[in-house]
Amino acid sequence: MQLALSDYPRGAELAGALVATAPRVWHGVEKLGTPGEVDALLAEHGFAGSCTPAELDGVRDLRTELRAIVDAAVAGEETGVVVRRASALAAGGLTLGEAGPARGGLPAWVFGSDAGLVEGLAAVTGVGLLGAVRALGPERFRACAAPFCEGAFVDVSRAGRRRYCMPDLCGNRVHVANHRARRRSG
Ligand SMILES: [Zn+2]
Repeated sequence: MQLALSDYPRGAELAGALVATAPRVWHGVEKLGTPGEVDALLAEHGFAGSCTPAELDGVRDLRTELRAIVDAAVAGEETGVVVRRASALAAGGLTLGEAGPARGGLPAWVFGSDAGLVEGLAAVTGVGLLGAVRALGPERFRACAAPFCEGAFVDVSRAGRRRYCMPDLCGNRVHVANHRARRRSG
């Protein structure tokens, strides 16, 4: 699994997608219950990778750390705290590609790992969060605005106005609830 530094939004999206599978977001239901569910999540986000049964706990532990990093930013912790923890995830997975004139003589910075799925995932999601906090700022790390949802996410959209951890789900449910409330009062 690999990700170029410039492609950090994909890493941040993947980090958010992992965070959104946690039982606390699904009222106790584990959405990464099998290695196959990890594989499906990766494929959905355009990453190749296959999780073994032995790696599943490692993926869930990584998810816990990603959530803690997002929560630290949401809580307004110093940006240094977020950077330090995200760096720890990314650091092991940096490789330097060939230098090229198109890059001003600098090598391509590629994050990832072939050592194992968890290592690769840590590097890709770590650099995703690092890129997001650097390029977009810690205010792009947000708690889901749906009152019934405990989710959190990183908004890497251009407009930066995302409010829900799963827009299709949480956003829709809020709209339906608002609509019903209007009809009741109307
Ligand atoms: Zn949500």
